[in-house]
Parts: sequence; structure tokens; C-alpha cells
Amino acid sequence: MKAIRVGRTGGPEVLEFVDVPDPVPGPGEALVRQTAIGINYIDVYVRTGLYKRPLPFIDGREGAGVVEAVGEGVTDVKPGDRVAYAATPNLGGYAEKNAVPARELVLVPDGVDDRVACALMLQGMTAHYLAYDTFPLHAGHVALVHAAAGGVGSLLVQLAKARGATVVATVGTEDKAALARGYGADHVIVYAEQDFAEATRALLGDHAVDVAYDSVGKDTWERSLSLLRSRGMLVVYGNASGPVPPVEPQKLAAGGSLFFTRPTIVDYIKTREDLLRRASDLFAAVREGKLHARIGATYPLADAAQAHRDLEARKTTGKLILVP
Ligand code: NDP
Repeated sequence: MKAIRVGRTGGPEVLEFVDVPDPVPGPGEALVRQTAIGINYIDVYVRTGLYKRPLPFIDGREGAGVVEAVGEGVTDVKPGDRVAYAATPNLGGYAEKNAVPARELVLVPDGVDDRVACALMLQGMTAHYLAYDTFPLHAGHVALVHAAAGGVGSLLVQLAKARGATVVATVGTEDKAALARGYGADHVIVYAEQDFAEATRALLGDHAVDVAYDSVGKDTWERSLSLLRSRGMLVVYGNASGPVPPVEPQKLAAGGSLFFTRPTIVDYIKTREDLLRRASDLFAAVREGKLHARIGATYPLADAAQAHRDLEARKTTGKLILVP
């Protein structure tokens, strides 16, 4: 089969389009013939070596398609089932087929196409746990959401609004601002043109933010923290601009007994119940027209390097899909 292999870490050019043997599903695994492969920012961190993996590997941890075969002991799915998965630790996503632990698969309902199913997996479930569990939002809360036109950001704005929060969204361009407004953000700041902290203070006053969902990291975390109300929470869930340096606990005290967490999805879909509950909430929201998962671009599998270039250059919006 065709796959995108990484033989050494580095820039997008290390994503090589190669022939590799078809994976064979081991005990507990299902072989998925993929129709849509999800690209996520974490694929960049793994490709560059920021997150370490033994080499060589096939990048990507998300896909949707049809079960072609199952290994020993699999009862959750059967050949012919339409399925999707997210965050599989074995990677193997950027390929025509992937052998995935069956317990990580969810059945995709009618009315949700495979590309949208991908969008709801890693990015959708991340937005879900952030809004429901890391900081359970409710009416009256003010939430700051960075990169609000991106994969996670666009879904997080919509879920935060559905939970009743006031949303301050930041984006890189005016075009992205229009998208963020469309998702329901109450205030949209183009942080490439304006200091978002000053703009937020001008809009809502000092220390008006209950929770800052920060996936940008190095460039934004400190200003995100400065906007929090007493006992507010900084949720650093990504590092698109680079990792956050060590944070002095005293800084949290000085800011008003603040909370700082660095969540990761694996801890929020640890049990099969958690995984199925989040997926089912998201599928239902899409089917009922309450949540829009925007497919920003699709690329042929062979063009994975171009997709990474576009993602890192901040040219993309919504979900990026590779088509095998
Ligand atoms: P996005 O579609 O959001 O793409 C990243 C966006 O980040 C860009 O479009 C850009 O938007 C913004 N950005 C700001 N600064 C930079 C920079 N220096 N370089 C590149 N991009 C920058 O990606 P995803 O939806 O896949 O992921 C969003 C974030 O969420 C990532 O940081 C990812 O690691 C994290 N994540 C974390 C998870 C977890 O469980 N902890 C799970 C899933 C994702 P703009 O132009 O508007 O600034």
C-alpha cells in the first residue's frame, strides 16, 4: 500500500510517499481501509521531533473508513463497518490502511460523512473535553479561545457558545475573523494586528476571563494568564508557536490563585465509555445541525508535505484531510 513514512525528523520534506507492506491486524486490532485521513497539528510536532517517536514511522493518528478484517478476539467491530478513530498511539494514519486497536474505533452513523467523522475525532473530542470537563463551561463564563478558525478552535467556539459562555476569539487574519464570527464568537480579535490582551481588556475590563483555552503556547500563554479572573484557569493544550517555558507557581498566586493545566486527549478518552460518549455527543450535534465541522481543504495522500507546509504557515482553516 501507499503511505507517508518519516525516516528522519525535520521539515515537511521528510514526509516521503512510499510503498510499504499492508499492515496485518494483530489480536484486538481491526484493519481499516481508509477513505479519509485526518491531519492534526500534533502530526507536525511528531514530524519535527518535538514529540519523540522511534524512527521510521508512518505519521498520522486519525482516520475514517471501512473495516476490512479483524484480528483475534475482536468483538466491537466487524468487516464492513464504517468506523473512525483518533489519537491512536501507534500512529500509522497517513496510509491507505491502518491496523487500529478495535477498542479505539467508533461506528460512524449515517448522515455523517467520513471527512466530517475525522474532524470530530481528535479535534472534536478535544473541543468536547475542554468545554465539558477541563473547565466545565456554563452561562456567565467568559472563555478566551485562540486560533478560533482552526480545527479545534472552530469546534470549541461552537461548543462554548452552546454551553452558554461568552466567547472572545483570536485569529490570524480578517478572513479567519469572519469564520469565527460565523461560529458564534461574541468578540473576535485579529491577534496578528492587535495585542489580544489589550483588546480583551478594552472590551471586557481587567481580569474578565474565566478560562483561557490556549493552543498557541509560547507567544500567547503569559498574556492569556494576565486576563484571568481570580481563581480562573489557563488551559495550555497545544504549542503551535512553541512550548511554554516552566511556570513559577508564585505567578499563579500573584495572578489570583490561578489554575494552570496542560491536558492531553488520551486522558479524556481513556475508557471506552468516555470515547463513545464524546463521539456520540458530537455525531448527534452534527446530525441535528447544531455543530458545523468545516472541511478546510483536502489533499491527495501523496501531498501530505504540502498540507504540513500550509498548516505551519497558518494558511489553513477548519479540518485538513488527506485522501488515499
Ligand atoms: P489548527 O487548525 O488550529 O492550526 C493551528 C493554528 O494555530 C494556525 O492555523 C494558526 O491560526 C495558529 N497559530 C498561532 N501561532 C502559530 C504559529 N507560530 N505557527 C503555526 N500556527 C500558529 O490545528 P489543530 O486544530 O490541529 O490543533 C490546534 C492546537 O490544538 C494545536 O496546538 C494542537 O497541538 C492542539 N491540540 C491539542 C490536543 C490535546 O489534547 N492537548 C488535541 C488536539 C489538538 P491563526 O492564524 O488564526 O493564528
